[in-house]
Amino acid sequence: MGQAMIEFHEVTKQYQGGQPAVDALTMSIAEGTITVLVGPSGCGKTTTLRMINRMVEPTSGTITVAGKDVTAVPAAELRRSMGYVMQSAGLLPHRSVLDNIATVPRLNGVSRREARKRAEDLLDVVGLARTLGGRYPSQLSGGQQQRVGVARALAADPPVLLMDEPFSAVDPVVRDELQQELLRLQKDLAKTIVFVTHDIDEATVLGDQVAVFAVGGKLAQYAAPEEILRAPANDFVAGFVGRDRGFRHLGFTASDGVTFHPVPTVIRGADGHSSDPNAADGWQLVVDGDMRPLGWATPGTDADLIPGGSLFHPGESLRRALDAALSSPSGLGVAVDADGRVLGAIRGPEILALIEQARQARQAAVQAAR
Ligand code: ADP
Ligand code: MG
Repeated sequence: MGQAMIEFHEVTKQYQGGQPAVDALTMSIAEGTITVLVGPSGCGKTTTLRMINRMVEPTSGTITVAGKDVTAVPAAELRRSMGYVMQSAGLLPHRSVLDNIATVPRLNGVSRREARKRAEDLLDVVGLARTLGGRYPSQLSGGQQQRVGVARALAADPPVLLMDEPFSAVDPVVRDELQQELLRLQKDLAKTIVFVTHDIDEATVLGDQVAVFAVGGKLAQYAAPEEILRAPANDFVAGFVGRDRGFRHLGFTASDGVTFHPVPTVIRGADGHSSDPNAADGWQLVVDGDMRPLGWATPGTDADLIPGGSLFHPGESLRRALDAALSSPSGLGVAVDADGRVLGAIRGPEILALIEQARQARQAAVQAAR
């Protein structure tokens, strides 16, 4: 991993007497990584995040960003130099989506024209249709608003992105989409992202490193997610991670053993009609001329094209393989290569058997370690 981008040294925050909200925090956050701060409500996550951009000032200790003490930079300037996304996207209700995204570049002196052009590009980046640019925030779904929030945070191309429970208010399906989108984005952008959540699953999906906070603002464990699931540092972390962490661990279990089966396909031409080279009774995968999946068809229904489920890419976890199978109307998951071309079908019962094997192997390993 890269060198340190953000460093906390013995940082304490005490609001007004009483217990510290953050207690003698020392931690180093590597450049270009996603670091997730996770823990129960009230354990000091938001306070920690806000001390990075001086929305909150520490009582004692020092914080450096790119080697520079944050108190050496005027607070307003520091704030604008970092992207910030919060739970309610915090969009200005009377400004269009484009103007919301363009806010910080405009404050930085970028011309309106330039800022709006960049805002339009950012709609693509976060997976929103450009036609949404003219709408007002209230005309968007919760998930769309969060995407606008992310676009706005990226608008000035800041090296650091601070995200405070940005996906907590959307439903689980949208949340999963937003998480995958963030991971996809991060592959290209390689920002230093500090992400706050109370959800251990979200933390382990997103984090290169996960910092588990205990009540009283104490850092209980700071490690890679696999390490935290495999070897919780103490009873608090073990309890927080949960009893069923054996299953969560499968999120990291490689899917090498998954078998790709031949799948009956029909090719859809430019005229919208399907040719049917190998007509079969059951489900058929409809593909384009390049063998990219378009959806499913089944004889005996009027439906022309039934939307498919999530796609599976080799190298992903068993959990995602199972997702692909369970979300597919045919019960067959579709595996595709890096270009999106069909590799074959994957079957739910086979994936479940692999999951069971992995679970047993893990249990045996845990027992051997006792
Ligand atoms: P989290 O984000 O993990 O839920 P916070 O950082 O918001 O936790 O809060 C940590 C502790 O500090 C809590 O006990 C909270 O009540 C207290 N706290 C947070 N903000 C303030 C504030 N502005 N004034 C006084 N106490 C605060
Ligand atoms: Mg909070």
